[in-house]
Order: sequence, then structure tokens, then C-alpha cells
Amino acid sequence: MTKGHEKEREYELVIVGAGPAGLTAGLYACRAQLHSILLERGLPGGQLLNTELIDDYPGLPEVDGRELAERMTRHAQKFGLPIETVTVTGIKKLEDGDFRISTQEGPVYRAPAVILTAGGTPNKLEVPGEDEYAGKGVSYCAICDGAFFKGETIAVVGGGDAATEEADFLTRYVEKLYLIHRRDELRAQKILQQRVFDNPKIEIIWNSTVEEVLGNEKGMTGLQLRDTVTGKASRLDVTGLFVFIGFLPNTGLLQDHAEHDAAGYLITDRDMRASIPGLFVAGDVRAQLTRQITTAVGDATTATMAAEKYLTELKERRAAAGGVAAP
Ligand code: NAP
Repeated sequence: MTKGHEKEREYELVIVGAGPAGLTAGLYACRAQLHSILLERGLPGGQLLNTELIDDYPGLPEVDGRELAERMTRHAQKFGLPIETVTVTGIKKLEDGDFRISTQEGPVYRAPAVILTAGGTPNKLEVPGEDEYAGKGVSYCAICDGAFFKGETIAVVGGGDAATEEADFLTRYVEKLYLIHRRDELRAQKILQQRVFDNPKIEIIWNSTVEEVLGNEKGMTGLQLRDTVTGKASRLDVTGLFVFIGFLPNTGLLQDHAEHDAAGYLITDRDMRASIPGLFVAGDVRAQLTRQITTAVGDATTATMAAEKYLTELKERRAAAGGVAAP
């Protein structure tokens, strides 16, 4: 029973997180005619909603992130997928083998299989001034906040795909952009690196970390940097800072221990099965070589097929045991 004695809502499959992986899992679950639901705390689309332009999704050389999110959502809903706006707070495996999925808003869901596609949350620099100037210069989303910096001089920190892609995007607004990276070599894909090297508005500050975000009552005014080779401190006058230094997988929802790697990403087998029977994982929350939309949708397809197989076998086992067999 839930808060207020509301009855648990029963499904065969509950999908948690509506990014590309969750929406794909929902689509395939409906095609398999599984009684399923997709739970999402915000708008469906996940990271797509924070990306201006998606490059080279096969068949779509360039597509607007929000448009792709809407298309994926409509496509899944066309098959009858229900998407509910709730914040999942816990996923717990019960003694009878089902999962109980609780939410901040109150509704509680129950299902023998769960696909976790909850992505991650952007990492913070954890330096003085970062929180103080968040929304007053410091941002984690170029598409959301880029237009506020028209004609200004700003900085981006990070050396991966996100930092390079978003730095290039931000130069449509800003006059000058410093890309600050802690090493002397970028981690990003070569095509994204080349775009940054070729962009006349971008200057890379190598071997440097941000030690403090500086500002006054009006907002951010600069950064305190430290050279990682010479140890020298310097000041950079910028009015904005975009932080793209990876993200933390959203695995905190799991109330039972699931096998994960050193960075907290969940480990699965070939079929996207996590170490807890009945739990399947796809998208950015899963330990893997790369985090692309293409891999998220591929892995979600596998996860859903594997969940369907698991549910069929479980039904047979439960029927043989008189309806009580836990996996
Ligand atoms: P990422 O690949 O993990 O890169 C994080 C970057 O931030 C690295 O360059 C890292 O430096 C730097 N960094 C980490 N902690 C830092 C700190 N405390 N201070 C300063 N710098 C720090 O993360 P991401 O770029 O957010 O990408 C996440 C995933 O999404 C990746 O798998 C990526 O491939 C994928 N993605 C793909 C695309 C695309 O294909 N177009 C776009 C966006 C994201 P080091 O290099 O020194 O470790």
C-alpha cells in the first residue's frame, strides 16, 4: 500500500527515465505488448533537450535536439506508451521477486521487471564561487543559457565531447570563448576537436584548472586559474562559465546493491541485465565504452527484448509454482 492507502499500480515493466534509451525501451515494450509505463520527472527527451544540434545520427545528418526528443516521444506514444511525470525516489526488490518503485509525489508502482534509463547529473567543479554565481554567470546548459551571453567573453571548462561541442555552439552568441582544459590534449572525438581548433573565436587554455569563480553583487566577473604544470596562478576576466566535465550516473534510486564500476556506472551483461534479477539498464547510467544516442537506443532495444524474455520465463516459473515463485 502507498501513502494514503492508494493501491500499488501494477505493471509487467516499469521504465525509469525518458531520455533516448527510456523512450526506445517504451517503444519496444509496446511493440511486445508488455503492460508498461515510463516514469520521468521532467519533460521526455533527457540530454537531447540540452543539445542544440545532433550531428550524424544515422539517416539524420543534422537534427535539432528538441525536435528529436519530440519525435521519439510521439513515436513511443503512437504505440500507446503511458508516460507519467513523477520523480522516482526508490527502486526496491521485494521478497516475492517484484520491484516496488516509489515516487516523491506518492504513487507507488509494482512490476516484476524494471529498465533503468535514468542517465546522469552534470558534475560540478566544487570550487568556491561556483554555487554563489550559478545562474549569475555559471551554467551547465549551453542551449538553455547561451543567449544570455551575447557579445560577451566567456569560458568553458572540460576537454570531452560535451565541452568541445557546446563551446563551438556558444560561439554563435559570444565574442570570445576560452576553453580551459586541465591537460595538454583534448579527450573529445577528433571531428569535434578540429571544429574547436578551426573556430577563430575559441582560444584554448591548456594545462589549467579553475580554482575559484570570482564576482560581485552584479554577477560573475572572472576566474582564478592555476597552471597544472608551472603551478602559477592567474586571473581570467570572463562574465560566464559553462561547466562540462562529465556527469554522475543516477544510480542512487536503487535501494539494493547492484554491481557497478569505480565511477558508479552499473555493470550489465551482454543483454543489459544488471546483477539484480529483473533489473535491466541502458543509456548513460550503464558502464560502457562510449555514451552516444545511437548506443543508448541500441542498448535499450536489447534491454527490452531481454526483459520480455525474462518476463515470459518468470510467468512460466510462477505458474508452475502456483503463482508464488520469486526469481
Ligand atoms: P567526459 O567524456 O567524461 O569528459 C569530461 C571532461 O572533463 C574530460 O576532458 C576531463 O578531463 C574533464 N574533467 C573532469 N573532471 C574535471 C575537473 N574536476 N576539472 C576540470 N576538468 C575536468 O564527459 P562529457 O564530455 O560530458 O561526455 C559524457 C559522455 O557523453 C561521453 O561518453 C561522450 O562521448 C558523450 N557525449 C557525446 C557527444 C557526441 O557524440 N556528440 C556529445 C556530448 C557527450 P580529462 O580529459 O583530463 O579526464
